[in-house]
Amino acid sequence: MRYRRAVLAACALTLSPLLAPVYGDDIADRARTLHFSSIVLDTHDDTTQRLFSKTYDLAKRNPDGHVDIPRMKEGGMNAIFFSIWIDGRIMGPPAVQKALDQIDAVHENVRRNSKDLVFCRSAEEVRRAHKEGKIAALIGVEGGHMIGNDIRIVRIFGDLGVRYMTLSHFYNDEWADSSTDKPAHNGLTDYGKDIVREMNSQGIMVDISHVSDKTFYDALEVSKAPLIASHSSCRAICNHPRDMSDDMIKALAAKGGVIQINYEKSFIDQAYKDASDKLSGGVVAMFDQLKKQCGDDQECFGKRMLEMEKQATAEGKLPHVSWERIIDHIDHVVKLVGADHVGLGSDFDGATMPEGMNDCTRLPQITEALMRKGYSDDDIRKILGGNLLRVMEQNEKVAREQQSKQ
Ligand SMILES: [Zn+2]
Repeated sequence: MRYRRAVLAACALTLSPLLAPVYGDDIADRARTLHFSSIVLDTHDDTTQRLFSKTYDLAKRNPDGHVDIPRMKEGGMNAIFFSIWIDGRIMGPPAVQKALDQIDAVHENVRRNSKDLVFCRSAEEVRRAHKEGKIAALIGVEGGHMIGNDIRIVRIFGDLGVRYMTLSHFYNDEWADSSTDKPAHNGLTDYGKDIVREMNSQGIMVDISHVSDKTFYDALEVSKAPLIASHSSCRAICNHPRDMSDDMIKALAAKGGVIQINYEKSFIDQAYKDASDKLSGGVVAMFDQLKKQCGDDQECFGKRMLEMEKQATAEGKLPHVSWERIIDHIDHVVKLVGADHVGLGSDFDGATMPEGMNDCTRLPQITEALMRKGYSDDDIRKILGGNLLRVMEQNEKVAREQQSKQ
């Protein structure tokens, strides 16, 4: 065994640092055992867009993209928030209609795959699904524009099982400023504050990914329940407006919230972000360019984005980014505010993954890397899903309190 380990260690030295190291020691075994016995919950997956494609089947292993049931099983990802997303410039009743189409698609896909998936509305239901060996499916709405500027839709979304809503997307909506748009409301409007209160009453977690810093601080002040950042990373490592500053992370944690780390290359690696800004003029400019080419065809959008990215990396215009950068972000949050306030929000099927994090089958690498850093089993379980479930439970408690007052 010792000989084998030495050989493996020697082999690992000759491997590219971008490849996952091959260890054959106790830690690798212990990490696998821990990973595959834990609730591994990802708060942000754009897989919903793929449910509308004729070539994609959630139940089968697909040759592209990042998530489907066989690959979730292989990677031990047993709880997923399907993201409901439409372009942030669609507003009013059409936005509500399109959001409902997607909410229905998630429910229908869960129903069709009930052998493997179970729709969950509470932390308790997620835990039960795990005990039964099923994958917990949840819904998050990515952008307040999808309520069509009508607070009643928040209640309807709640009834349909939506468990978080991101207050804005890339553009400001009618009542909240985005981090990637020119400020129009100085954060949250009074109506926006009422919407946050209504979300509290419905047990819909307030998601501050995508929002402006002022919107974040406004939401933090108004919300009676802890907030989440469903898919954001750390500005201290990569200075992107989509990420959170150390002050924001501290304020989020002080009120019991959690930041779920996004794996998108331009959110986790400064050199990559700088190079891609140079190439595309920033995230919104790139989005606009692709929108012109693909219109509303999300498949075309995703494919074109991937092609552009691959070509630029091959030409040396974009640097390589290792999946281990994800670990740097997790570790940064842990050093800043402890292990109770960080989790996983990959942005699978909606972002460009770093090398070595090809899809959700690679998730066990994260557990092993954290174990090699000396993290305790308890802390790793919290990061994999426990922290988010704690915040979800606190939101459920606040909802019960608010409803009993009405
Ligand atoms: Zn997003």
